[in-house]
Amino acid sequence: MSVNGSHDDRENHTGRLLESARRELGLSLEEAARRTGIPTGILKGLEGEAGQPSGVFHSRVFLRNYAGSLGLDGRTLSRCRQSEAKIEDSPSRSVPSQDAPSPNGRPPVMVEARGVYKSYGADEEFAVHALEDVSLRIERGSLVAVMGPSGCGKTTLLNVLSGLDEIDRGEIFIAGEPLHALNDARRTGYRARHMGFVFQGFNLMPVLSAVENVELPLLVSGAGVASARKRALEVLEQVRLADRAHHRPNQLSGGQQQRVAIARALVNEPSIVWADEPTGNLDSDTSREILDLLLQLNRENEQTFVVVTHDPAVGSLMDRVVRMRDGRIVRQAESPGEVAPEA
Ligand code: ADP
Ligand code: MG
Repeated sequence: MSVNGSHDDRENHTGRLLESARRELGLSLEEAARRTGIPTGILKGLEGEAGQPSGVFHSRVFLRNYAGSLGLDGRTLSRCRQSEAKIEDSPSRSVPSQDAPSPNGRPPVMVEARGVYKSYGADEEFAVHALEDVSLRIERGSLVAVMGPSGCGKTTLLNVLSGLDEIDRGEIFIAGEPLHALNDARRTGYRARHMGFVFQGFNLMPVLSAVENVELPLLVSGAGVASARKRALEVLEQVRLADRAHHRPNQLSGGQQQRVAIARALVNEPSIVWADEPTGNLDSDTSREILDLLLQLNRENEQTFVVVTHDPAVGSLMDRVVRMRDGRIVRQAESPGEVAPEA
């Protein structure tokens, strides 16, 4: 990354530099997130950051690593640096209310989808209808499994419910507020503040230690270095990894890496945690351990968990199973124990 400029300059303009570099490459935030393994909300925070240096983001190691994962060479970066575009300020203040009133004393609805359609591909003839007429309610604090065969639309469902992806038709409400009506910047801001993500592939930053990975979202949201470290260590303790805080991902087992990723998803105390096949890369004992951890965290933190899984044993541990096939919800079992193995 650019190391030619003065120190002050680097600190003050890193965010804008990152954004103009990404735009130069023609990448959306989501694409950049996929390439770098940094969640979109964090990237957005990085790009929006001005003035205040916050720990790891201004280390040269981090910048070099980031640029490399994005596919940027030094020359592109210098060019961006010279013609640093003025970036529009994105509004991110008005946040959907966290406490929608609860009619009839039942737990408030955290997520609601009404008649959602989503397809891929512009050409109707070849379009893939990933979601068709999907309606669903998820209550605050519940633990919901989304199950179904590969390609049935589980990841797409998570992506649209969390606002990572646009929908073609329908409505999505989070805590009673219409997510589909927020613009991209507001949705991104909302995700960063209220949602945590856990993926199959862990998506940890390889050059950062466990605790540095976990504190990343806090530093991006402007927390002080000392308080971020304190909170990150607390969450690592919660996932029983305090003794591995200073190990890098490649010094950890798969299960331990996933626990770091879970700690990172929880560090901002999100209202909702989305997990897409969080045990997909793990052996069955380790999977069980990760699931027990998710169950325990769900109970302790009263957060809403939505977990995509292939594993019928997982489904039976959840409050509810949403079963999908060919882009539709085919069944929503309300109680555990109703889960049949995949066909
Ligand atoms: P699952 O997570 O259940 O395996 P997905 O939600 O990933 O299923 O995919 C649902 C359908 O949409 C599949 O047919 C898949 O091939 C298609 N699909 C997913 N993402 C894209 C994309 N970016 N472009 C085109 N088709 C896609
Ligand atoms: Mg998937």
